[in-house]
Amino acid sequence: MTELLDLDRAALGELVESLGQPGYRARQIWRQMYQRGTIDPMSMSDLPTELRQQLSEVSSSDREPVEVQTSSDGSTSKALLRLGDDELIETVLIRSQPRDTVCLSSQAGCAMGCVFCATGLQGLRRQLTAGEIMRQAILARSWARDEGRELTHVVFMGMGEPLANYGSVSESIERLTDPDGFAMSPRRITVSTVGIPQNIRRLATDHPHVNLAVSLHAPDPKLRRELVPVPGASVEDILDAVREHNRLTGGRVTFEYVLLRGVNDNRGHARRLAERIRGLRAHVNLIPLNPSPGVVGERPSRRATLGFQQALQECGVPTTIRVEQGRDIAAACGQLRGDRVRKQQ
Ligand code: SF4
Repeated sequence: MTELLDLDRAALGELVESLGQPGYRARQIWRQMYQRGTIDPMSMSDLPTELRQQLSEVSSSDREPVEVQTSSDGSTSKALLRLGDDELIETVLIRSQPRDTVCLSSQAGCAMGCVFCATGLQGLRRQLTAGEIMRQAILARSWARDEGRELTHVVFMGMGEPLANYGSVSESIERLTDPDGFAMSPRRITVSTVGIPQNIRRLATDHPHVNLAVSLHAPDPKLRRELVPVPGASVEDILDAVREHNRLTGGRVTFEYVLLRGVNDNRGHARRLAERIRGLRAHVNLIPLNPSPGVVGERPSRRATLGFQQALQECGVPTTIRVEQGRDIAAACGQLRGDRVRKQQ
């Protein structure tokens, strides 16, 4: 059955025409979905009853999350969503005044195999469609609105590698920034990647105002291959693509660096990292590992984390330590899905 969210504007126009309805109805439906967050056609109140019925016969309706967990401090909510083919994905809403951020999944599972990541353990199940990505954004925004808040930021940082699903991610950025759609500024959207050089360049050309975050996690090629065993791209290839992204967009990149105790967290690693990224407009965001069952790595000490930050700052690299929220609901991506799948086995 057709999922309305899986149609782009042209395809939605064709559907409306095939139902014998005037073309302007497509824009109304589009606005209902992306501005009001109404996915069920029967609830699209500004459409005539006949069209609502026609749409509900050809499209599947809204689906509730399978499970929602909210952290004890209320800052983070995590939803487990079931897709049409029973695949499970996670979406996280992070509330931190004045920002409300949704963390979107771009794939069911992930092929990248980062050794410290619960999603990496599951392997790639399949790509998400743009509609499945947008369903997550709509859900998170409706949560925020129900609480009298507004969704302000979007990060592609959930399950999956967004630049390995470029078409759907690019299409969902179009809908997020469409004035008739989510109407969000591209400067409030971040794509976080382990580094697929050709698609970093495409992103710079197609969406120059969208923020780029690159998960580096190691200064040396050998250590990086151990932590992020992505075939193909070397650290140098990735940094070349980031250099070009800097040049094409005039923007600044964020390097994400997950700290693992005794693996990549000493001052020598920090100094070599600073050396590697010298000359780039960049900022480093340190993430002390939030260990999950079955994955590699331990959380670094507070002292090591602060020492790493200090060493980078002494080399002139702007560095922050990620403020962690929702640790009590297993906020690292893939944990909730992994728990559910284990329970089903
Ligand atoms: S950290 Fe991201 S890229 Fe790496 S395995 Fe997990 S989901 Fe994939």
